[in-house]
Amino acid sequence: MNQDHELYKAGLLLHGHKCPAMPMGLRAGLAAIEQLGVERAKDGQLMAFIEIGQDHCATCYADGIQMATGCTFGKGNIQKLGYGKFALTLVERKTGRSTRVVTKPETIQRNKESEFIQYRQNGKPASQIEPALVEPLVDFVLSAPAEQMFDIGDVKPFQLPAGKSHDFNAIICEVCGEVTVESYARIKNGQIVCMPCAEAV
Ligand SMILES: [Zn+2]
Ligand SMILES: [Zn+2]
Repeated sequence: MNQDHELYKAGLLLHGHKCPAMPMGLRAGLAAIEQLGVERAKDGQLMAFIEIGQDHCATCYADGIQMATGCTFGKGNIQKLGYGKFALTLVERKTGRSTRVVTKPETIQRNKESEFIQYRQNGKPASQIEPALVEPLVDFVLSAPAEQMFDIGDVKPFQLPAGKSHDFNAIICEVCGEVTVESYARIKNGQIVCMPCAEAV
């Protein structure tokens, strides 16, 4: 894969800046899809569990995962586990088959030692760093063999919690007048209200 690949171009558009972590997520997601022999999820066919947390290096990884797998925030078929780790478990819902793709320490280390990351550590936004410093990192992550960058787990069964069907019913909050999904509504002082209005004192 190179920077002309449509998934990379779309990923960059979604993500906003050039960095090595978004393409790392792309490659991890594609490795998982290939290992399971499935297609990118048009609907909720796949479920992704990503192990990153909040406020740490390389969380941009998650945007690459979303782009590659079709497991997205909007569809609700992606979940962040918050371990501060760069691993992905991809599950095919219909069969319960899964694989876990773990980024190798050398892959993380390679990026960490780069001048690009030194600037990031000093608080410079990725979009303001000299492109010449990031291009070789991106090119490497896009083109290196997947087995070199990741440990790709065997296909194993995975027990997904039973999914709830989507709630299409909505009400209008009697306090703020805004639409809220019915199962999220509350009753306060005899009125049907949204959660923020129910919690307001
Ligand atoms: Zn990024
Ligand atoms: Zn309200």
